[in-house]
Amino acid sequence: MADRTLLPDETTTRRLLDVQTSLLAANEDCAAKNRARFQQHGLTVFNLVSSPGAGKTALLVATLERLAGRLHAGVIVGDLATENDAARLRTTGAPVVQITTGTLCHLDAQMIDRAADMLDLAALDLLFIENVGNLVCPAEFDLGETRRVVLLSTTEGEDKPLKYPPIFRFADAVVISKMDLAHAVEFDLASARTNIRRVNPQATLFELSARTGEGMEEWGRWVAGDR
Ligand code: MG
Ligand code: ZN
Repeated sequence: MADRTLLPDETTTRRLLDVQTSLLAANEDCAAKNRARFQQHGLTVFNLVSSPGAGKTALLVATLERLAGRLHAGVIVGDLATENDAARLRTTGAPVVQITTGTLCHLDAQMIDRAADMLDLAALDLLFIENVGNLVCPAEFDLGETRRVVLLSTTEGEDKPLKYPPIFRFADAVVISKMDLAHAVEFDLASARTNIRRVNPQATLFELSARTGEGMEEWGRWVAGDR
């Protein structure tokens, strides 16, 4: 009896792992194609990840407003439902493609491939991808981006990097957002910095507020690169 109950579980687990492995392998292939396509157009592509409500959309709106007239930027935004974020982003005048994922809690490279077809990539300098709010599986899905950026808002507490190490480990930049609220929520900036550094010593660190503009100058320079 013990064998009968154990074996199917093991088989199921193995099959699930096989499915997951081939799914991720297909994603890697597609991400490599996306990356080559973006490079052909001289595009710098940012993949923004965070938990829900960390301020990705607000940061992007403020970023697009700063860049307007200097650089051409487009946005691909993913959400489970609603076009609310896309509507907010469109107020900046930037071209925005919305991906509604339904039940899926992350974007994958195939979705980005299809969304990119709806943008005039040749006319863009920068492309921002606002991932679905989730600190777990977006870490595993390369989208073909140039830079991955993870946001940590002052309202979420300082220990997120320790609780969700993979997403912080694979980031090129970590943004501490909503700095204007840091005092009100008794955010411990020193311990947040320490926690981020423990998981990712190399990432470029930004501390900013899209609302007040604090730290936005430095962020804007990094985003624009050497353009
Ligand atoms: Mg958003
Ligand atoms: Zn997911």
